[in-house]
Amino acid sequence: MGNNRIIIPTFAGEIKYITTMVIAEFNVLAGFFYFNNEYFGGVLPIPQLKLRHGWRTLGYFSYNPDAPFGMSETIEISDFFDYTKEEFRDILIHEMIHYYLCYTGEDRRCRHGKAFKAMARRFNQLYGMNITPTIDISKMKASCNASKISKFFFEFFK
Ligand SMILES: [Zn+2]
Repeated sequence: MGNNRIIIPTFAGEIKYITTMVIAEFNVLAGFFYFNNEYFGGVLPIPQLKLRHGWRTLGYFSYNPDAPFGMSETIEISDFFDYTKEEFRDILIHEMIHYYLCYTGEDRRCRHGKAFKAMARRFNQLYGMNITPTIDISKMKASCNASKISKFFFEFFK
């Protein structure tokens, strides 16, 4: 990738790491923005978006029920695995479904219940997605925390 070519050798590793992290975080935002408009009617306010690095939880939606709406909603995406574009989309949209159902009040407890399953099924049928309550990581490649999410740079701005 051209934007990873660094001139100063001493800080090359650090700069490359920071660059990939920034691009990865930007990509989560870009993905959220694109999917929100494409699949959720653009109704979702931008939540806090964070990268996480563990392998146990690939995506996580959380909020503080005592905080005013818009203050605490957070979506976290792990960069542990080297996702395909589709895997990245499905993980982010999984969390966006939790967020949407919380936002609309259909399920503020963020379960994989009827409302979640109905919405996942609709997305899978309409758009060929593979939104499931749990994600099979057995075939995923670890990315050694090098934030491979950065490879999707501008993917969603075509
Ligand atoms: Zn879930």
